[in-house]
Amino acid sequence: KRTITRLPEWLKTPIPSNQNYKKIKNDLRGLNLHTVCEEARCPNISDCWGGSSKSAATATIMLMGDTCTRGCRFCSVKTSKTPPPLDPHEPENTAEALRRWGLGYVVLTSVDRDDLADGGARHWAESVMKIKQKAPAMLVETLTGDFAGDMEMVKLVAASGMDVYAHNVETVKGLTPYVRDRKASFEQSLEVLRTAKEVKPEMITKTSMMLGLGETEEEMWAALRELRKNNVDVITFGQYMRPTKRHMAVHEYVTPDVFELWRQRALDMGFLYCASGPLVRSSYKAGEAFIENVLK
Ligand code: SF4
Ligand code: SF4
Repeated sequence: KRTITRLPEWLKTPIPSNQNYKKIKNDLRGLNLHTVCEEARCPNISDCWGGSSKSAATATIMLMGDTCTRGCRFCSVKTSKTPPPLDPHEPENTAEALRRWGLGYVVLTSVDRDDLADGGARHWAESVMKIKQKAPAMLVETLTGDFAGDMEMVKLVAASGMDVYAHNVETVKGLTPYVRDRKASFEQSLEVLRTAKEVKPEMITKTSMMLGLGETEEEMWAALRELRKNNVDVITFGQYMRPTKRHMAVHEYVTPDVFELWRQRALDMGFLYCASGPLVRSSYKAGEAFIENVLK
């Protein structure tokens, strides 16, 4: 097994300027929202927040707490079988805070809550509906889990009014058991994406894959074919980065050229758009991409 410790040049990005963090902190002060952008000190913050205009500015908000009932081998979120209960006021408060913030595009995401009978589906749906009521112009992308394979819950969430339904397959089929929690599977994730699309065919569906985990080219092609077969519209590719030594090792740092190659291949296969690059995350400039490719 290879263990790579040194970062290649293309991953050594400048730390986002303090000014950007200050702007974010100011905008967020008193809103009581938890952005993944800020908490993960995401290197893309200036790109996403800068956007080409305020209407394209994107931020990612965490719902349902900071403790996940699963333990994927690439993820640094804390894990517990019994996380604290949901805050019943969160949907209302989040919607109100987002309305005041006046952001153009919001990505909502959450931990997985296998401890809840509905996996948090009602909380998800309520959050989206409240945001669309209070800030109708705001574009909403939801990055959900798989609701433990309960497609009725996926349908309930998918009908709540978001513009983009995202669910990440994360990696190719063969690596899924080594990368994701054992409750997840590639097929189950395909079913989530297919079901969301069936609920509302005009809604954009989206997924993300990490590269550098040891996937082969053949496995990549197979994954992309499966995703297209299930009418997934949008895909993003980013480099897997090991959060700590306790997480799985990076197999390889994929070069920017290879990321560009996969972007081209995805477009050739009929994906509507594709963000691909070493630092790309599933929400990377999502607002800008949606406005350029869907609204125009
Ligand atoms: Fe935030 Fe996602 Fe952009 Fe990072 S990539 S700054 S988490 S919206
Ligand atoms: Fe992390 Fe999501 Fe896996 Fe939970 S389900 S451990 S939040 S990647």
